[in-house]
Amino acid sequence: MNAPNASGWKPGTPVEGHNAMSGPDTATGNRALMLEEPLLFEIGHIETTGVDLPEPKDGPNRLGGFERNEPIGLPGLSEPETVRHYTRLSRQNYAIDLGLFPLGSCTMKHNPRLNEKIARMPGFGDVHPLQPVDTVRGALEVINELAFWLLDLTGMHGVAMSPKAGAHGELCGILCIRAALEARGDAREVILVPESAHGTNPATAAFAGYKVEDIPATPEGRVDLEALKARLGPDVAGVMITNPNTCGLFEPDMKAISDAVHEAGGFVYCDGANFNAIVGKVRPGDLGVDAMHINLHKTFSTPHGGGGPGSGPVVLSEALSPYGPLPFTARTADGVVHLVEEENADEFEHTKAFGRMTAFHGQMGMFTRALAYMLSHGADGLKQVAEDAVLNANYVLRSLEDVLDAPFGPSGPCMHEALFSDKGFGEGLSTLDLAKAMIDEGYHPMTMYFPLVVHGAMLVEPTETESKAALDQFIMALRSVAERAKAGDETLKTAPHYAPRRRLDETQAARKPVLAWNDPAMA
Ligand SMILES: *Cc1c(COP(=O)(O)O)cnc(C)c1O
Repeated sequence: MNAPNASGWKPGTPVEGHNAMSGPDTATGNRALMLEEPLLFEIGHIETTGVDLPEPKDGPNRLGGFERNEPIGLPGLSEPETVRHYTRLSRQNYAIDLGLFPLGSCTMKHNPRLNEKIARMPGFGDVHPLQPVDTVRGALEVINELAFWLLDLTGMHGVAMSPKAGAHGELCGILCIRAALEARGDAREVILVPESAHGTNPATAAFAGYKVEDIPATPEGRVDLEALKARLGPDVAGVMITNPNTCGLFEPDMKAISDAVHEAGGFVYCDGANFNAIVGKVRPGDLGVDAMHINLHKTFSTPHGGGGPGSGPVVLSEALSPYGPLPFTARTADGVVHLVEEENADEFEHTKAFGRMTAFHGQMGMFTRALAYMLSHGADGLKQVAEDAVLNANYVLRSLEDVLDAPFGPSGPCMHEALFSDKGFGEGLSTLDLAKAMIDEGYHPMTMYFPLVVHGAMLVEPTETESKAALDQFIMALRSVAERAKAGDETLKTAPHYAPRRRLDETQAARKPVLAWNDPAMA
């Protein structure tokens, strides 16, 4: 089993350039407790398996001619080998449980263990979407109660709980806008999106069939209200605005923006990914927002990264609620929240739903975690989350602006994230070099080259769950690499020096990923 893997590395042989600065290559390719791990296909055996099953008894063949007539070709490992394989792989990940995760716009906060404990209770953890309703009343109550608090925190009218991520929620909100426009026979075809928007915003609008047009930013990093007003007209279906925006700044003109858009007959979509900075302080409903997704996996601490699972409920205004997809959760005049499904849509007069976003109710495990988080924080605790998140970001901003260019620093405090640029770096050094050097310092890099309105952007979001000591160490590390970047330190160009892998060809990895394993013996 010494076949080279996709990257050309052979199990049991030292890796070229592997950790080259810290000593001679080892025979195993391991570096102290940092272990190399081949692919399952390279270490598993097709002929063996970790389980011992009895031969099936003779009986009628019920496969209707679809039985497999060749071996499936999956590698088998014993249980300890399997456990080690996945444990070793997990150690190659950076995680919020390992250290500060400064990825701006992503709100990588601590996932309280209480949430995990509640989500694992069998009554929540083991429910199946096809169980009879009478056996899942408690789970449905969790969805309703979470919906109630989301409506309360946002000051909105109804909420579609089923979308499975922020981007999925965006699509849900834009489809509500389209349904509302179609219902009044209005064929508007343009969605306006600020220059600083997250890439999912224009992608969503385009996916829903709209033409996307940019709205410029002011030199202070906010939406240019006058430019927006000038563009509004009978062809504009709506705007998608992030507040606080992706420069980490509050949009003080939000109400004026909403009023102008409504007056021109359009709708306001708010990207609520940054809700953490204002939760318990600002209700988007009061700012005239018609639809907003909430990333439970950001604001309400449910785990994320590595592809999910996320959860992106969409809160809707009174104008858009009638079009919300099923299952839908709306507040009736008596203030009670009801879960509306196909069976009771007539009873709740929710007959104009544009359809469904998913087969079932959404991410139950995330609902349970988010509700546990809300209830354990309480109203005062959620407010403090926003205050501490903003305080921590400003601490980072003010501690580093003497060494890193902070383009919007002079215009006042930031919200939940601090934005820096690469201005003043030594010849040939870039944001990428600095980010790679942060890996050597033991940190996941911050968000890079986003938002696009700032050259070589670095977006740092510490979140409220970091202590002052943790922030101080991070600031010290970032200050050190920033000073090296300014001094033109050439060694930054080859960082990381201490990671199991050095600089990879990231373009090649993104454009031509090797996703299939080909058995070298068959080549
Ligand atoms: C994270 C994020 C999104 C997308 O959310 P996903 O859950 O990753 O799909 C959209 N907009 C902004 C500003 C975000 O930070």
